[in-house]
Amino acid sequence: MSLQGKVALVTGGGRGIGRAICLVFARKGADVIVADLDPALARQVAAEVEALGRRALAVEMNVAEEASVDQAAAQAAAWQGRVDIWVNNAGIGSRAMLHEMTAEQWDRVIAVNLRGAFLGTRAAARIMMPQNSGRIINMSSRAGKGGSFGHCSYGSSKAGMVGLTKSTARELGKYNITANAIQPGFIATELTKNLDTSITTPEQRVLPRPGRPEDVAYAAAYLASDEAEWITGITLEVTGGTGMFAG
Ligand code: NAP
Repeated sequence: MSLQGKVALVTGGGRGIGRAICLVFARKGADVIVADLDPALARQVAAEVEALGRRALAVEMNVAEEASVDQAAAQAAAWQGRVDIWVNNAGIGSRAMLHEMTAEQWDRVIAVNLRGAFLGTRAAARIMMPQNSGRIINMSSRAGKGGSFGHCSYGSSKAGMVGLTKSTARELGKYNITANAIQPGFIATELTKNLDTSITTPEQRVLPRPGRPEDVAYAAAYLASDEAEWITGITLEVTGGTGMFAG
């Protein structure tokens, strides 16, 4: 699979899974727009992409803010005149039992994860519809299938992203734009480093080794490739098998 000649944008590309997606895409030949809340992180990853011999653009983007997404999307589209692949990867969590969760905690997670994916998808659609081609990839989670104990806003946002993905696939299929979701299982990153695993359901391990950000990035590269042009509206589990037991 090659992404040679493609231009890809990855939100939350500054670290973790998003960074791995930027680097795997670059190794497969794509030029990459690294979009992140933290411009310094975005610049660091952009430099790593350039070190792999590809072109890179670092853009500051707060996925929860309409103006920020639209401004960054305009910058991205102007860079090489098109965007072929858009990955809505940025996401946050917030830990609280449902009966103790504040409305503000709920709103913040929904704003970044679900509203952010909507704003990103809308911006991508406006660029890709005139191109008559494109790939939109949404980073859902295993929590979107099986819920999330102690993180109901997170699980709800990730399930919502599946509905967004399918709706997008239905509306944009006629423009040769595919929309697919990925549901990773547990991957060690900043996001999960403070997770209290004592309150979560123990993972039923199938494959022995833990998941890595690159495992998710390879799945994204496949969905972004020309070889996946007849795949849309799906949710691809990257869980080392634990996804079989969720839901
Ligand atoms: P991470 O290490 O925390 O990285 C998330 C990135 O998103 C950070 O660079 C962060 O920037 C950025 N970000 C946060 N809020 C943002 C916003 N409002 N606008 C733009 N960028 C923002 O997390 P990760 O583990 O790589 O997770 C990436 C995605 O995979 C998330 O959607 C997550 O829900 C999903 N996922 C992760 C796992 C897992 O086990 N790790 C499992 C399933 C799904 P800052 O550094 O500036 O905050």
